[in-house]
Amino acid sequence: MKLVLASNNAHKLTELGSLLADLSVELVSQGQLGIGEAEEPHPTFVENALAKARHAAAHSGLPALADDSGLCVDALGGAPGVLSARYAGLFGEAGGDAANNRVLLRNMAGQTDRSARFVGVLVAVRSADDPEPLIAIGRWPGRLLTEAQGDGGFGYDPLLWIPEFDCSVGSMTPQTKNLHSHRARAALQMKALMREVWRA
Ligand code: IMP
Repeated sequence: MKLVLASNNAHKLTELGSLLADLSVELVSQGQLGIGEAEEPHPTFVENALAKARHAAAHSGLPALADDSGLCVDALGGAPGVLSARYAGLFGEAGGDAANNRVLLRNMAGQTDRSARFVGVLVAVRSADDPEPLIAIGRWPGRLLTEAQGDGGFGYDPLLWIPEFDCSVGSMTPQTKNLHSHRARAALQMKALMREVWRA
């Protein structure tokens, strides 16, 4: 079976490719099929992931898997949340990971409650109108640092300190991140669901 990965984010595609390598499906990215980005207009990860999966399935005629993910900070009511990729833009700054991190640190200045977590939602559909989407949610809790630590990974990795490892996600090897991350946790659940429900 071919499965379309509904993302054009190179970092996510690399992580998902190795997380799903042991599944007996052939992974193909939507970019390889000439499919563009879907709209992500919804306030929740699960709704956006479903929209992305449907978009890829509708344009490819194949089963599709989408990831919607981000950082949720308790003191900010869950922000940046679904707007994680575009956070700096909300405050009139140019986009990109460095700007997002800078704006987040500025908005958290003086805040003592620094609990935060990465949230990753994976949604898989067999077709655009599949009435039974598979949904998996992974969370990776930690604390927001006051300055960046480490230059690995992407996005907010240098800002989230994980207590069990006593370091930021950005200081971990890709192998360690891929064993423990929100995306890894969601991928494990998703693989079990695909084997059980899709017999993949
Ligand atoms: P999406 O493409 O709308 O799902 O937005 C994902 C955004 O969330 C990324 O651009 C990052 O800012 C953030 N994000 C998601 N996963 C990770 C991760 O594993 N590490 C760091 N940041 C992440």
